[in-house]
Amino acid sequence: MITMDDFLVNMQHYDEVVWLNPHFKKESNSSLNLVDIQDAANRLQRFAPYIELVFPETVQNKGIIESDLIEIPHMLSTLKKKESLEVHGKLFWKCDNNLPISGSIKARGGIYEVLKFAEKVALDSGNFSVNDNYSKLAENQFKELFSKYSIAVGSTGNLGLSIGIMGAKLGFSTTVHMSHDAKQWKKDLLRSKGVNVVEHHGDFSKAVAEGRKFAETDPLCHFVDDEGSKDLFLGYAVAALRLKNQFIKSKIEFSKEKPLFVYLPCGVGGSPGGVAFGLNKVFGENIKIIFVEPTHAPSMLLGLYTELNDKISVEDIGIDGRTAADGLAVGRSSRLVGKIIDPILFAETTVQDDRLYEYLALLADTESIFVEPSSAAGIASFVDVNKYLSKIDSSIKNGTHLIWGTGGNMVPKEEMSIYYNTGKKLLSK
Ligand SMILES: *Cc1c(COP(=O)(O)O)cnc(C)c1O
Repeated sequence: MITMDDFLVNMQHYDEVVWLNPHFKKESNSSLNLVDIQDAANRLQRFAPYIELVFPETVQNKGIIESDLIEIPHMLSTLKKKESLEVHGKLFWKCDNNLPISGSIKARGGIYEVLKFAEKVALDSGNFSVNDNYSKLAENQFKELFSKYSIAVGSTGNLGLSIGIMGAKLGFSTTVHMSHDAKQWKKDLLRSKGVNVVEHHGDFSKAVAEGRKFAETDPLCHFVDDEGSKDLFLGYAVAALRLKNQFIKSKIEFSKEKPLFVYLPCGVGGSPGGVAFGLNKVFGENIKIIFVEPTHAPSMLLGLYTELNDKISVEDIGIDGRTAADGLAVGRSSRLVGKIIDPILFAETTVQDDRLYEYLALLADTESIFVEPSSAAGIASFVDVNKYLSKIDSSIKNGTHLIWGTGGNMVPKEEMSIYYNTGKKLLSK
């Protein structure tokens, strides 16, 4: 049992909140470190010749799955006017909504975990070494080897797409457990790639639990555990090393007086947690990380605020978990991430669904960037944090801001126009 204070009552009423983390002290105390992130980056580098061979869309970037970092000045000036913001620094957008292969931030962690498992299976076979050219893994002998193993995951959608597409491409027998209400086009797409899609009644946690149970009965099955996988986490963290180079190229530097504020949409916490962990290792105290969740699924905020982490779910305080941001519709946060993120997270905000649609439409109109609702959450957070902090800490006005786009590229056109039109309608009210 927890005591319901005013803050929790606000959350219970689905009010939007801004929370400054009292534990923020700028350094992570996890046993994971930069060496682990570098190890993951090296593994992705070894796989690059394979990725380049089997996914032609990655040829341009030599088999490295990465997205652009761009400035969004038109969106910035529109937001400044609309929301009366006083922002002097630049506003950047991280285009993970365009990541190759699976079109969302899950292409980082999800694909990394599948590759790591494939590498282990290949090495254990005795017919492969880390010094080989990894494009060899596309040969029939390895496809046959991988087909004896299976990979399973429970997912609301985008993680399923990443694991499914990568797993099936390598030749693994791949199963994605989805909740019954997951988007039809995602199920269709996966089935078209030869992935076995199993639908479960109930929410995301239920799908994960069922998936885990199913996988445990099979010793040759690797289960990707979105609620606690270290491999997923490290795959996401590699983003920080890449981002550092992108900022060096754009000649932007950060300091204590001019920090970088990064806004990350949060579901179970793996992707924003991994990215934040990496950023903290790479940029240290010159970075301020902010998570954002839907008012109807604030699982990470609830876990951090009550310090119960994964021991509490939003249902425990009567929150329904229903949101159009399906990538963020998670009732209970990861058992791995809360503890790692607690000392390095600067703030968190929550957002109502209507604003996701509005910002998604504004982003399309001003910058021609089309994203899914989950991926627009960072925009709301940018607005709310700037409004809130400018009253108590004027240094935010000189900061640089980066909103992390997280998904959208795989969404079918018809679906995307529904999102966009919903936003336009709300804006014209
Ligand atoms: C999964 C997802 C997130 C959040 O990632 P978590 O690891 O669940 O916290 C954000 N945006 C999109 C589009 C996603 O698919």
